[in-house]
Amino acid sequence: MPDPKLMDEPARMAALHRYEILDTPREPSFDRITDLVRSILGVPISAVSLVDTGRQWFKAISGLDSGQTPRDIAFCDHTIRDRAPMVVTDALEDARFCDNPLVTGDPNIRSYAGIPLETPDGYNIGSLCAIDTVPRQFDPGQIAILRNLAALVVEQLELRRIAERDHLTGALTRRAFLHELNRAIALFDRHQRPASLLLFDIDHFKRINDTHGHPAGDQVIRGIAQLCAGLQRPSDSLGRLGGEEFGILLPETGEEDATKAAQRFCDAIAATDMPGSPSLRVTASFGVAELRGEWPTENSWLAVTDMALYEAKRSGRNRIAVARRDSSHAT
Ligand code: GH3
Ligand code: MG
Ligand code: MG
Repeated sequence: MPDPKLMDEPARMAALHRYEILDTPREPSFDRITDLVRSILGVPISAVSLVDTGRQWFKAISGLDSGQTPRDIAFCDHTIRDRAPMVVTDALEDARFCDNPLVTGDPNIRSYAGIPLETPDGYNIGSLCAIDTVPRQFDPGQIAILRNLAALVVEQLELRRIAERDHLTGALTRRAFLHELNRAIALFDRHQRPASLLLFDIDHFKRINDTHGHPAGDQVIRGIAQLCAGLQRPSDSLGRLGGEEFGILLPETGEEDATKAAQRFCDAIAATDMPGSPSLRVTASFGVAELRGEWPTENSWLAVTDMALYEAKRSGRNRIAVARRDSSHAT
């Protein structure tokens, strides 16, 4: 009986996108695995291939200088259609591949072993593969090793996701958010692309915990994150920086538009019933700072935004404050 999860392409793509890994830079933990495949199996090429809508994209590739290929010529696109490993001992003798341009031309693939990368919920998002330019058999011991290494790739993907997402809210963790700030700073330095940072902290949150209990407080924190995630643009990033303090990075946004956005978030929080019974209303205070040469590191940018947030708290809460240019002494 066909396995429905192997035929559900939209759900497979959703599973792949959850990892937020396509088009990310190389990472040593994946490179190490393809290097191991090459040395243990004695093959010239190994790749971690992720099968996207129209392409296979390599998170790691060892022995070949390629970033991606069209999906319709990808061996790995065949691998993901089954739960079992796919082995091709001689591509020229295989009707599926004998006229494939990767076989008839560069890199002249002749043999292939691929293990599907199966997510914990059962979707094949790609494969770990070993490739040779001569015909060859892969013995059961080698396939077993490849299977173990493929399981390591999936574990690595899971760990990467856990490290980047806060479990209560689904927002970026502080570490991942700082990484996004650094990316914005690099774009600003190299290409003068603007960006703005919003920081906000829920007002009088201790009272919520004291009056309604910590679990009710958690629900409010989750509700605020959901509200902001629904209001933000797809290119914006939401991070949970501390207990009830969040950051929103607005790429390609100057101070004027960032101020309007902050006011929109602030008004929406004040006007929304948070989940829970009884449903609660809270407010939050915002600091806003456009990225400038005067605060060139993520710490100095955070510090001036935090000073603006403090100013919003000091002047009455449930409001926004914009960083002053003379606050550049913050480090
Ligand atoms: P202010 O308006 O000055 O921000 O007042 P506040 O009461 O919100 O003060 P502050 O931001 O300093 O304190 C935040 C409180 O949030 C302290 C802590 O008990 C609570 N808190 C921190 N993390 C969590 C969490 O994950 N869940 C819950 N329920 N409460 C948290
Ligand atoms: Mg607070
Ligand atoms: Mg706080």
